[in-house]
Amino acid sequence: MSEQSKWNGVPDWLAPGVSNRSLLGDLSKSFRCPSCQLQLEFSSSYLSCPNSHRFEYRDGYLDASIAPTDARTVKTFESFGYEWNTFDDMREEDKEFWNSYTTGVPFTNLQSKIGLDAGCGKGRYSRFLSSHVGLLVALDGSSSVVSAARNLNSLGNVVVIKGDLRNVPFADETFNFIMSLGVLHHLDNPYEGFTKLVNLLRPDGMLFLYLYSAPEGRGIRQVGLAAAREMRRVTTRLPFKFLRALCLPLAAILRVLLVIPGEIGDRRKIAKLSSLPLTTYRTKSFRSLWLDTFDRLSAPIEHRYRWPELQSWFDQAGLNVESVREDAGWYFTLRKDVPLDKS
Ligand SMILES: [Zn+2]
Repeated sequence: MSEQSKWNGVPDWLAPGVSNRSLLGDLSKSFRCPSCQLQLEFSSSYLSCPNSHRFEYRDGYLDASIAPTDARTVKTFESFGYEWNTFDDMREEDKEFWNSYTTGVPFTNLQSKIGLDAGCGKGRYSRFLSSHVGLLVALDGSSSVVSAARNLNSLGNVVVIKGDLRNVPFADETFNFIMSLGVLHHLDNPYEGFTKLVNLLRPDGMLFLYLYSAPEGRGIRQVGLAAAREMRRVTTRLPFKFLRALCLPLAAILRVLLVIPGEIGDRRKIAKLSSLPLTTYRTKSFRSLWLDTFDRLSAPIEHRYRWPELQSWFDQAGLNVESVREDAGWYFTLRKDVPLDKS
């Protein structure tokens, strides 16, 4: 028996850590060239299309990326590549973030299904999603895939791929479950990215999204976001290493002014203090606050959303809102309609 047929048509070099070669075989039929959309074929050590575009597996991930040409995408990928390759460690408390993000998300009947984490970064949340699905593609356009590969490849059901979610190496309707947490709002045109994800979703598939929310009314959060917006005019131009160092004292100030008073408010039941923002960080390490301070001040593009705008996105895409939650950001689970002729 040849190596190819033994592995259901998938050569062993592709995702060597993945044990379910049958699901990988299913996925492999959906590989498409991100340059010309033709089907990708396996060869001895790479994937290629009839137009000779070639994509190689190395350092634990499949590189299906096409070098971006617009300056803002280049900067965005550089920013997140730097972020996730310096804050690259997996931390215990990530599970607490995950649990709070996924309250009410139905991860049922996905054990034999294929999922996508679109914008996986270092794989912080991919590892939790991977336990709910049969096979997970962890995708990112930045060099963070180096950290993701290191963090995820031992899990046995994750394929790490470098590629832009607007230009993925897959056919439409490939995935049963797509997660994209804190990603689309960093694109120049988030709606374009959103529609690409919807196209990748199978009918009846589920999309789990987190997007920044626009501040309503007036309060400390609004003042803080306005201040951050002003700071970003400068900070998005600073060298990453310098900004990372600068965010250390900034995070310390946030901790002293907001997080610690909030903790005291919670303990002594003082409503005024309890209602301070950054509640999440009261139970998290200082490092998480430092990381998120960098995250908010480094990425060149940031969009924020109100409900009516998102509602029109979902209506136009034929998505049914199964759950929505606003907690310093929007959390949605969305179900894709089954076309009438398929139901
Ligand atoms: Zn091609």
